[in-house]
Amino acid sequence: MKQHSKISALSCLVCRNRHAWTPQLFVCPDCGGNLLVELRPDALQATGGVWRDPTQTGVWKYAPLLPLETTEGRTPLTVGGTPLLEFREKIPGGPGRLFFKDDSRNPSASFKDRAGAIALAYAVEMNAPRIAGASTGNAGSSMACLAASIGRQATVFVPKTAPRAKLTQLLLYGAAVVRVDGVYDDAFDLCTRVCKERGWFNRNTGANPYTREGKKTVSFELVDQLGEQQPDMVFVSAGDGNIFSGVWKGFRDLLDFGVIQRMPVLVAVQSDKSNAIALAHQRLLDGVPFAEALQPVSATTIADSISVDLPRDGHGALRALEDCGGFALQVSDQEILEAASYLASKTGIFAEPAGACATAGILKYARTKGFKGNETVVSLVTGSGLKDIDSLLKAAPAAIEVPKDYDAAMKILETAL
Ligand SMILES: *Cc1c(COP(=O)(O)O)cnc(C)c1O
Ligand SMILES: [Zn+2]
Repeated sequence: MKQHSKISALSCLVCRNRHAWTPQLFVCPDCGGNLLVELRPDALQATGGVWRDPTQTGVWKYAPLLPLETTEGRTPLTVGGTPLLEFREKIPGGPGRLFFKDDSRNPSASFKDRAGAIALAYAVEMNAPRIAGASTGNAGSSMACLAASIGRQATVFVPKTAPRAKLTQLLLYGAAVVRVDGVYDDAFDLCTRVCKERGWFNRNTGANPYTREGKKTVSFELVDQLGEQQPDMVFVSAGDGNIFSGVWKGFRDLLDFGVIQRMPVLVAVQSDKSNAIALAHQRLLDGVPFAEALQPVSATTIADSISVDLPRDGHGALRALEDCGGFALQVSDQEILEAASYLASKTGIFAEPAGACATAGILKYARTKGFKGNETVVSLVTGSGLKDIDSLLKAAPAAIEVPKDYDAAMKILETAL
Protein backbone atom coordinates (compact mmCIF):
# COMPACT_ATOMS: atom_id res chain seq x y z
CA MET A 1 0.00 0.00 0.00
CA LYS A 2 1.14 3.55 -0.76
CA GLN A 3 2.73 5.34 2.15
CA HIS A 4 2.45 9.04 2.77
CA SER A 5 5.79 10.86 2.76
CA LYS A 6 4.79 13.12 5.66
CA ILE A 7 2.19 11.19 7.68
CA SER A 8 3.20 8.23 9.83
CA ALA A 9 -0.27 7.43 11.24
CA LEU A 10 -3.67 8.79 12.16
CA SER A 11 -4.30 8.35 15.86
CA CYS A 12 -7.71 8.50 17.54
CA LEU A 13 -8.21 11.36 20.00
CA VAL A 14 -10.78 9.31 21.93
CA CYS A 15 -9.70 5.63 22.08
CA ARG A 16 -6.04 6.38 21.23
CA ASN A 17 -5.80 3.60 18.62
CA ARG A 18 -3.36 4.31 15.80
CA HIS A 19 -4.28 3.64 12.18
CA ALA A 20 -2.25 3.43 9.00
CA TRP A 21 -2.87 6.42 6.72
CA THR A 22 -5.13 5.98 3.73
CA PRO A 23 -6.32 8.95 1.66
CA GLN A 24 -9.96 8.55 2.65
CA LEU A 25 -9.54 7.74 6.35
CA PHE A 26 -11.13 10.68 8.21
CA VAL A 27 -12.58 9.28 11.46
CA CYS A 28 -11.59 6.38 13.74
CA PRO A 29 -12.78 3.05 12.30
CA ASP A 30 -12.96 1.64 15.85
CA CYS A 31 -14.94 4.27 17.74
CA GLY A 32 -15.86 7.05 15.28
CA GLY A 33 -13.62 9.52 17.16
CA ASN A 34 -11.68 12.38 15.55
CA LEU A 35 -8.23 11.59 14.22
CA LEU A 36 -4.93 13.35 14.83
CA VAL A 37 -2.38 13.50 12.00
CA GLU A 38 0.98 12.20 13.21
CA LEU A 39 3.93 13.39 11.16
CA ARG A 40 6.74 11.02 10.27
CA PRO A 41 9.84 11.59 12.39
CA ASP A 42 11.75 11.99 9.11
CA ALA A 43 9.23 14.47 7.66
CA LEU A 44 11.95 17.12 7.47
CA GLN A 45 14.44 14.88 5.70
CA ALA A 46 13.74 16.41 2.30
CA THR A 47 14.58 19.90 3.60
CA GLY A 48 17.62 18.84 5.60
CA GLY A 49 15.87 19.46 8.92
CA VAL A 50 14.57 22.93 8.05
CA TRP A 51 10.96 23.52 9.15
CA ARG A 52 10.15 26.68 7.19
CA ASP A 53 10.69 27.83 3.66
CA PRO A 54 11.43 31.58 3.56
CA THR A 55 10.89 31.70 -0.19
CA GLN A 56 7.16 31.12 0.33
CA THR A 57 4.46 33.34 1.84
CA GLY A 58 1.62 32.74 4.30
CA VAL A 59 0.87 29.17 5.29
CA TRP A 60 3.05 27.73 2.51
CA LYS A 61 6.09 28.98 4.36
CA TYR A 62 5.48 25.99 6.64
CA ALA A 63 5.05 23.40 3.89
CA PRO A 64 7.82 21.19 5.36
CA LEU A 65 5.54 20.42 8.33
CA LEU A 66 2.25 20.22 6.39
CA PRO A 67 0.77 16.81 5.46
CA LEU A 68 0.87 17.52 1.73
CA GLU A 69 3.04 15.94 -0.93
CA THR A 70 2.69 18.36 -3.82
CA THR A 71 2.09 22.07 -4.48
CA GLU A 72 -0.80 21.24 -6.80
CA GLY A 73 -3.81 22.42 -4.81
CA ARG A 74 -2.34 25.58 -3.31
CA THR A 75 -4.57 28.62 -3.38
CA PRO A 76 -2.85 31.61 -4.98
CA LEU A 77 -4.52 33.85 -2.36
CA THR A 78 -2.40 34.77 0.66
CA VAL A 79 -3.65 32.79 3.63
CA GLY A 80 -1.97 33.35 6.99
CA GLY A 81 1.14 35.46 7.41
CA THR A 82 -1.08 37.77 9.44
CA PRO A 83 0.20 40.68 11.56
CA LEU A 84 1.11 40.32 15.23
CA LEU A 85 0.43 43.60 16.98
CA GLU A 86 1.88 44.49 20.36
CA PHE A 87 -0.55 46.32 22.64
CA ARG A 88 0.72 49.77 23.67
CA GLU A 89 -1.17 49.91 26.94
CA LYS A 90 -0.74 48.10 30.22
CA ILE A 91 -4.02 46.60 31.40
CA PRO A 92 -4.46 46.70 35.21
CA GLY A 93 -3.65 43.17 36.36
CA GLY A 94 -2.61 42.42 32.77
CA PRO A 95 0.38 40.52 31.36
CA GLY A 96 3.88 41.90 30.87
CA ARG A 97 3.50 41.93 27.11
CA LEU A 98 0.30 41.41 25.15
CA PHE A 99 0.04 40.68 21.44
CA PHE A 100 -2.95 40.48 19.12
CA LYS A 101 -2.71 38.06 16.20
CA ASP A 102 -4.99 39.61 13.61
CA ASP A 103 -6.50 36.77 11.63
CA SER A 104 -9.40 38.86 10.41
CA ARG A 105 -6.93 39.71 7.64
CA ASN A 106 -7.34 36.52 5.70
CA PRO A 107 -8.90 36.32 2.21
CA SER A 108 -12.43 35.56 3.40
CA ALA A 109 -11.89 37.57 6.62
CA SER A 110 -11.59 34.76 9.16
CA PHE A 111 -9.15 32.29 10.69
CA LYS A 112 -11.03 29.49 8.85
CA ASP A 113 -8.96 30.20 5.74
CA ARG A 114 -5.98 28.46 7.37
CA ALA A 115 -8.02 25.28 7.67
CA GLY A 116 -9.58 25.65 4.26
CA ALA A 117 -6.29 26.17 2.42
CA ILE A 118 -4.74 22.95 3.68
CA ALA A 119 -7.97 20.91 3.48
CA LEU A 120 -8.52 22.07 -0.09
CA ALA A 121 -4.96 21.22 -1.13
CA TYR A 122 -5.39 17.78 0.41
CA ALA A 123 -8.69 17.32 -1.47
CA VAL A 124 -6.95 18.17 -4.73
CA GLU A 125 -4.14 15.70 -3.97
CA MET A 126 -6.63 12.93 -3.34
CA ASN A 127 -8.55 13.78 -6.53
CA ALA A 128 -11.83 14.48 -4.77
CA PRO A 129 -14.63 14.82 -7.31
CA ARG A 130 -16.41 17.47 -5.24
CA ILE A 131 -15.57 19.52 -2.17
CA ALA A 132 -18.30 19.97 0.39
CA GLY A 133 -18.93 21.15 3.91
CA ALA A 134 -21.67 22.21 6.29
CA SER A 135 -21.41 25.60 7.91
CA THR A 136 -23.36 28.42 9.44
CA GLY A 137 -20.82 30.86 8.21
CA ASN A 138 -17.09 31.30 8.21
CA ALA A 139 -16.00 27.75 7.38
CA GLY A 140 -18.37 27.71 4.41
CA SER A 141 -17.53 31.15 3.09
CA SER A 142 -13.84 30.30 3.42
CA MET A 143 -14.25 27.04 1.50
CA ALA A 144 -16.22 28.84 -1.21
CA CYS A 145 -13.58 31.58 -1.46
CA LEU A 146 -10.58 29.25 -1.67
CA ALA A 147 -12.26 26.82 -4.07
CA ALA A 148 -13.12 29.75 -6.37
CA SER A 149 -9.46 30.81 -6.28
CA ILE A 150 -8.36 27.54 -7.88
CA GLY A 151 -11.26 27.31 -10.32
CA ARG A 152 -13.33 24.82 -8.35
CA GLN A 153 -16.80 25.03 -6.91
CA ALA A 154 -17.51 24.27 -3.25
CA THR A 155 -20.80 22.75 -2.18
CA VAL A 156 -21.93 24.22 1.12
CA PHE A 157 -24.83 22.96 3.20
CA VAL A 158 -26.28 25.75 5.32
CA PRO A 159 -29.14 25.85 7.79
CA LYS A 160 -32.00 28.13 6.79
CA THR A 161 -30.94 30.72 9.37
CA ALA A 162 -27.37 31.37 8.12
CA PRO A 163 -26.29 35.01 8.83
CA ARG A 164 -26.65 37.40 5.91
CA ALA A 165 -23.06 38.60 5.42
CA LYS A 166 -21.73 35.06 5.36
CA LEU A 167 -24.51 33.79 3.09
CA THR A 168 -23.82 36.67 0.70
CA GLN A 169 -20.12 35.76 0.57
CA LEU A 170 -21.02 32.14 -0.19
CA LEU A 171 -23.30 33.08 -3.06
CA LEU A 172 -20.92 35.62 -4.61
CA TYR A 173 -17.98 33.21 -4.43
CA GLY A 174 -20.11 30.96 -6.61
CA ALA A 175 -20.57 28.04 -4.22
CA ALA A 176 -23.43 25.62 -4.73
CA VAL A 177 -25.38 26.65 -1.66
CA VAL A 178 -27.70 23.98 -0.34
CA ARG A 179 -30.13 25.52 2.15
CA VAL A 180 -31.32 22.81 4.50
CA ASP A 181 -34.72 23.22 6.12
CA GLY A 182 -33.38 22.56 9.62
CA VAL A 183 -30.63 23.63 12.05
CA TYR A 184 -26.83 23.44 11.71
CA ASP A 185 -26.74 19.85 13.00
CA ASP A 186 -29.20 18.77 10.29
CA ALA A 187 -27.06 20.42 7.61
CA PHE A 188 -23.96 18.76 9.10
CA ASP A 189 -25.53 15.30 9.13
CA LEU A 190 -26.95 15.61 5.61
CA CYS A 191 -23.59 16.80 4.28
CA THR A 192 -21.73 13.96 6.01
CA ARG A 193 -24.11 11.36 4.55
CA VAL A 194 -23.99 12.75 1.01
CA CYS A 195 -20.17 12.92 1.09
CA LYS A 196 -19.94 9.36 2.32
CA GLU A 197 -22.32 7.95 -0.31
CA ARG A 198 -20.85 9.97 -3.18
CA GLY A 199 -17.14 9.94 -2.26
CA TRP A 200 -17.07 13.73 -2.00
CA PHE A 201 -14.47 15.50 0.13
CA ASN A 202 -16.04 16.40 3.48
CA ARG A 203 -14.48 19.44 5.10
CA ASN A 204 -16.73 19.30 8.17
CA THR A 205 -14.94 20.27 11.36
CA GLY A 206 -14.02 17.20 13.40
CA ALA A 207 -15.01 14.84 10.59
CA ASN A 208 -11.83 15.91 8.80
CA PRO A 209 -8.37 15.65 10.42
CA TYR A 210 -6.76 18.06 7.94
CA THR A 211 -8.47 21.27 9.07
CA ARG A 212 -6.47 21.11 12.32
CA GLU A 213 -3.30 20.80 10.23
CA GLY A 214 -4.11 24.14 8.62
CA LYS A 215 -5.04 25.81 11.87
CA LYS A 216 -1.73 24.81 13.45
CA THR A 217 0.12 27.21 11.14
CA VAL A 218 -0.85 30.10 13.43
CA SER A 219 1.42 28.66 16.14
CA PHE A 220 4.27 28.33 13.65
CA GLU A 221 3.83 32.01 12.84
CA LEU A 222 3.76 33.01 16.51
CA VAL A 223 7.05 31.22 17.13
CA ASP A 224 8.47 32.86 14.01
CA GLN A 225 7.22 36.35 14.85
CA LEU A 226 8.09 36.33 18.57
CA GLY A 227 11.61 35.00 18.06
CA GLU A 228 13.53 34.78 21.34
CA GLN A 229 10.52 35.72 23.43
CA GLN A 230 8.23 32.71 23.12
CA PRO A 231 4.63 33.03 24.34
CA ASP A 232 3.79 31.91 27.87
CA MET A 233 0.04 31.87 27.30
CA VAL A 234 -2.19 31.89 24.22
CA PHE A 235 -5.89 32.74 24.56
CA VAL A 236 -8.16 31.16 21.92
CA SER A 237 -11.91 31.49 21.45
CA ALA A 238 -13.51 28.05 21.28
CA GLY A 239 -16.75 26.76 19.80
CA ASP A 240 -16.13 23.40 18.13
CA GLY A 241 -12.65 23.44 19.65
CA ASN A 242 -10.82 22.87 16.36
CA ILE A 243 -8.89 26.15 16.41
CA PHE A 244 -7.88 25.33 19.97
CA SER A 245 -6.66 21.84 19.11
CA GLY A 246 -4.96 23.29 16.03
CA VAL A 247 -3.03 25.87 18.05
CA TRP A 248 -1.95 23.07 20.37
CA LYS A 249 -0.95 20.80 17.43
CA GLY A 250 1.28 23.52 16.03
CA PHE A 251 3.23 23.86 19.26
CA ARG A 252 3.25 20.06 19.69
CA ASP A 253 4.85 19.58 16.25
CA LEU A 254 7.51 22.19 17.00
CA LEU A 255 8.29 20.53 20.33
CA ASP A 256 8.49 17.10 18.70
CA PHE A 257 10.85 18.37 16.02
CA GLY A 258 12.99 20.19 18.58
CA VAL A 259 12.25 23.71 17.32
CA ILE A 260 10.90 24.92 20.68
CA GLN A 261 11.60 23.66 24.19
CA ARG A 262 8.38 24.28 26.06
CA MET A 263 4.64 24.30 25.47
CA PRO A 264 2.76 27.50 26.32
CA VAL A 265 -0.33 27.38 28.52
CA LEU A 266 -3.32 27.46 26.19
CA VAL A 267 -6.58 28.98 27.37
CA ALA A 268 -9.90 28.06 25.72
CA VAL A 269 -12.30 30.98 26.05
CA GLN A 270 -15.99 30.23 25.63
CA SER A 271 -19.21 32.15 25.94
CA ASP A 272 -21.06 31.11 29.10
CA LYS A 273 -23.99 30.54 26.73
CA SER A 274 -22.01 28.01 24.68
CA ASN A 275 -19.75 26.34 27.22
CA ALA A 276 -19.67 22.62 26.44
CA ILE A 277 -15.85 22.42 26.40
CA ALA A 278 -15.47 24.33 29.69
CA LEU A 279 -18.01 22.01 31.36
CA ALA A 280 -16.37 18.90 29.90
CA HIS A 281 -12.95 20.00 31.12
CA GLN A 282 -14.34 20.46 34.63
CA ARG A 283 -15.84 16.96 34.46
CA LEU A 284 -12.44 15.54 33.47
CA LEU A 285 -10.86 17.27 36.46
CA ASP A 286 -13.62 15.76 38.60
CA GLY A 287 -12.61 12.28 37.41
CA VAL A 288 -15.28 11.56 34.78
CA PRO A 289 -13.88 9.14 32.11
CA PHE A 290 -12.61 10.87 28.96
CA ALA A 291 -15.17 9.37 26.56
CA GLU A 292 -18.07 10.56 28.75
CA ALA A 293 -16.92 14.06 29.62
CA LEU A 294 -18.26 15.88 26.58
CA GLN A 295 -22.02 16.52 26.74
CA PRO A 296 -24.16 18.81 24.57
CA VAL A 297 -25.51 22.14 25.82
CA SER A 298 -28.20 24.41 24.37
CA ALA A 299 -26.09 27.22 22.92
CA THR A 300 -27.64 30.69 22.67
CA THR A 301 -24.67 33.10 22.50
CA ILE A 302 -24.80 36.08 20.12
CA ALA A 303 -21.28 35.10 19.00
CA ASP A 304 -22.65 32.93 16.19
CA SER A 305 -19.26 31.49 15.14
CA ILE A 306 -18.81 29.86 18.54
CA SER A 307 -22.45 28.98 19.18
CA VAL A 308 -22.23 25.19 19.34
CA ASP A 309 -24.38 22.60 21.12
CA LEU A 310 -21.99 19.65 20.74
CA PRO A 311 -18.41 20.70 19.93
CA ARG A 312 -17.31 18.76 16.83
CA ASP A 313 -13.68 18.76 17.93
CA GLY A 314 -14.36 18.80 21.66
CA HIS A 315 -12.24 15.72 22.22
CA GLY A 316 -9.35 17.34 20.38
CA ALA A 317 -9.68 20.40 22.60
CA LEU A 318 -9.77 18.26 25.75
CA ARG A 319 -6.65 16.30 24.72
CA ALA A 320 -4.96 19.64 24.03
CA LEU A 321 -5.92 20.97 27.47
CA GLU A 322 -4.57 17.79 29.06
CA ASP A 323 -1.27 18.01 27.21
CA CYS A 324 -0.51 21.69 27.81
CA GLY A 325 -1.90 21.97 31.33
CA GLY A 326 -4.26 24.67 30.07
CA PHE A 327 -7.67 25.73 31.25
CA ALA A 328 -11.02 26.97 30.02
CA LEU A 329 -12.55 30.36 30.82
CA GLN A 330 -16.14 31.49 30.38
CA VAL A 331 -17.18 35.04 29.53
CA SER A 332 -20.62 36.60 29.16
CA ASP A 333 -22.02 37.93 25.88
CA GLN A 334 -21.82 41.41 27.41
CA GLU A 335 -18.10 40.90 28.11
CA ILE A 336 -17.61 39.70 24.51
CA LEU A 337 -19.27 42.82 23.09
CA GLU A 338 -17.25 45.06 25.41
CA ALA A 339 -14.06 43.31 24.29
CA ALA A 340 -14.97 43.88 20.63
CA SER A 341 -15.47 47.55 21.37
CA TYR A 342 -12.24 47.72 23.44
CA LEU A 343 -10.25 46.03 20.69
CA ALA A 344 -11.64 48.29 17.96
CA SER A 345 -11.20 51.55 19.87
CA LYS A 346 -7.78 50.77 21.36
CA THR A 347 -6.02 48.90 18.56
CA GLY A 348 -7.94 49.53 15.34
CA ILE A 349 -8.74 45.83 14.94
CA PHE A 350 -12.41 45.28 14.09
CA ALA A 351 -13.52 41.83 15.24
CA GLU A 352 -16.78 39.92 15.12
CA PRO A 353 -18.01 38.80 18.56
CA ALA A 354 -16.38 35.34 18.32
CA GLY A 355 -13.23 37.05 17.12
CA ALA A 356 -13.09 39.20 20.27
CA CYS A 357 -13.91 36.37 22.67
CA ALA A 358 -10.27 35.52 23.49
CA THR A 359 -9.62 39.17 24.30
CA ALA A 360 -12.67 39.14 26.57
CA GLY A 361 -11.00 36.21 28.34
CA ILE A 362 -7.77 38.18 28.83
CA LEU A 363 -9.61 41.22 30.21
CA LYS A 364 -11.56 39.00 32.57
CA TYR A 365 -8.50 37.07 33.73
CA ALA A 366 -6.68 40.35 34.39
CA ARG A 367 -9.65 41.62 36.40
CA THR A 368 -10.39 38.48 38.42
CA LYS A 369 -7.26 36.39 38.84
CA GLY A 370 -4.55 38.72 37.63
CA PHE A 371 -1.52 37.89 35.45
CA LYS A 372 1.92 37.63 37.06
CA GLY A 373 2.97 40.73 35.16
CA ASN A 374 6.11 39.49 33.42
CA GLU A 375 4.67 37.03 30.91
CA THR A 376 4.18 37.18 27.15
CA VAL A 377 0.56 36.58 26.18
CA VAL A 378 -1.14 36.30 22.79
CA SER A 379 -4.80 36.81 21.94
CA LEU A 380 -6.02 35.32 18.68
CA VAL A 381 -8.44 37.57 16.80
CA THR A 382 -10.29 35.09 14.62
CA GLY A 383 -12.76 36.96 12.44
CA SER A 384 -13.68 40.39 11.05
CA GLY A 385 -16.39 42.59 12.52
CA LEU A 386 -17.83 43.11 9.04
CA LYS A 387 -19.16 39.55 9.32
CA ASP A 388 -21.73 40.48 11.95
CA ILE A 389 -22.64 44.14 12.05
CA ASP A 390 -25.98 43.63 13.77
CA SER A 391 -24.50 42.20 16.97
CA LEU A 392 -21.69 44.75 17.11
CA LEU A 393 -24.09 47.67 16.78
CA LYS A 394 -25.34 46.68 20.22
CA ALA A 395 -21.90 47.57 21.62
CA ALA A 396 -21.61 50.84 19.67
CA PRO A 397 -21.78 54.22 21.45
CA ALA A 398 -24.22 56.81 20.13
CA ALA A 399 -23.26 59.26 17.40
CA ILE A 400 -23.52 63.01 18.01
CA GLU A 401 -26.68 64.27 16.29
CA VAL A 402 -26.46 67.80 14.85
CA PRO A 403 -28.54 69.97 12.50
CA LYS A 404 -26.93 70.96 9.18
CA ASP A 405 -26.68 74.65 10.13
CA TYR A 406 -23.05 75.57 11.15
CA ASP A 407 -23.80 77.68 14.22
CA ALA A 408 -26.38 75.26 15.60
CA ALA A 409 -24.07 72.30 14.92
CA MET A 410 -21.10 74.01 16.62
CA LYS A 411 -23.14 74.82 19.66
CA ILE A 412 -23.76 71.12 20.20
CA LEU A 413 -20.21 70.09 19.24
CA GLU A 414 -18.61 72.53 21.68
CA THR A 415 -20.21 70.75 24.60
CA ALA A 416 -20.10 67.24 23.12
CA LEU A 417 -16.42 67.12 22.13
C1 LIG B 1 -14.96 29.03 13.85
C2 LIG B 1 -14.60 30.25 14.61
C3 LIG B 1 -14.18 30.21 15.95
C4 LIG B 1 -14.10 28.97 16.77
O1 LIG B 1 -13.39 27.92 16.20
P1 LIG B 1 -13.74 26.42 16.63
O2 LIG B 1 -12.81 25.59 15.92
O3 LIG B 1 -15.18 26.20 16.25
O4 LIG B 1 -13.60 26.37 18.12
C5 LIG B 1 -13.85 31.41 16.56
N1 LIG B 1 -13.95 32.58 15.91
C6 LIG B 1 -14.36 32.66 14.64
C7 LIG B 1 -14.46 33.99 13.99
C8 LIG B 1 -14.70 31.49 13.94
O5 LIG B 1 -15.14 31.59 12.67
ZN1 LIG C 1 -11.15 5.59 18.28
